[in-house]
Amino acid sequence: MVKKKKYASVEIRKLERKRAEILDQLLSDTPLLAGSLSLVMRRCGKANCHCARRPAHPVWVLSTRRKGKACCQVIRRVDVEKTGERVRVYKEFKAALKRLSEVETAEKSKILKKIKERHVPYE
Ligand SMILES: [Zn+2]
Repeated sequence: MVKKKKYASVEIRKLERKRAEILDQLLSDTPLLAGSLSLVMRRCGKANCHCARRPAHPVWVLSTRRKGKACCQVIRRVDVEKTGERVRVYKEFKAALKRLSEVETAEKSKILKKIKERHVPYE
């Protein structure tokens, strides 16, 4: 029984270390951009342009939310790489946030088990 209790504590400490690593990632100052980037085909609207008859122009579009409303912006070609990197950092941030939540759930479950183990009923 004592060995089992010690094992639970070791597991909780291990989760705490994992949690600290995730927090380090979440608290980083690396710029990010909350949105998604996609390549779409658009027609420019000029009557004599090739896109009026043949395939349209490839354009990178950034989808974000502003004050709760969906917003799309065309990204200039020179900004595509930088914007894509920031969106990638955002996706990593979201994934880390999900991992944090999973670690906290696992931790809470182990702590609740520990409470059950420590419980001494009044007799
Ligand atoms: Zn065109």
